[in-house]
Amino acid sequence: MKKIVLATGNDHKTEEFKDLFADSEFKILSAVKYGGMPEVIEDGNTFQSNAYLKAYALSKQIDKKHWVIADDSGLEVDHLAGAPGIYSARYAGVGASDIENMDKLLKNLKGLSKSKRRARFRCVLCLIDKDSGTYYFEGTCEGKIGLKPKGKFGFGYDPIFIPDGHKASFAELGESIKSQLSHRARAVLACKQFFKKKL
Ligand code: IMP
Repeated sequence: MKKIVLATGNDHKTEEFKDLFADSEFKILSAVKYGGMPEVIEDGNTFQSNAYLKAYALSKQIDKKHWVIADDSGLEVDHLAGAPGIYSARYAGVGASDIENMDKLLKNLKGLSKSKRRARFRCVLCLIDKDSGTYYFEGTCEGKIGLKPKGKFGFGYDPIFIPDGHKASFAELGESIKSQLSHRARAVLACKQFFKKKL
């Protein structure tokens, strides 16, 4: 089984990645076993460049030939010209909580009808194999922003994101539904399909 070390300090993401790769020939290992996720200044101006910065920082720290994977992801709201986008984690300021970020977003959409609340989650994966190179995979999930936070599962903006085809938020729908249609699930699927053909 091929081992891939995951470049994140986010426990929710780690759980999601472990589940998403569970049916593959890859085993996801936490960065904790490899010295922990190093501090990374995410100053790229695309999801792709920030995903690379994270994967590269961890791969430098690992001697073994394990592959490293990182994701950079976020929420794009059409009415806000794609914001918060790459700034999703710090929309309400550096160190802001999920609740503060959601509050700011909901304030910025106040009074907008359902049809004007279109948004999508986007995820870019960067996988570094020191032998064969660097690979990128992308996934998106279309939906809309709800009127108020609902549900207790997941993390980040899950309580206010209602994926297309559903009436409830990701945080209400729970992990088994999220893992079928999320941006991260789609990016991981693209990754698995690519390496199925290549390996
Ligand atoms: P990153 O960890 O630097 O990629 O930051 C991603 C940020 O985007 C997170 O802190 C969340 O605010 C948001 N985000 C990304 N993926 C998700 C998701 O699956 N659910 C909810 N929020 C997400």
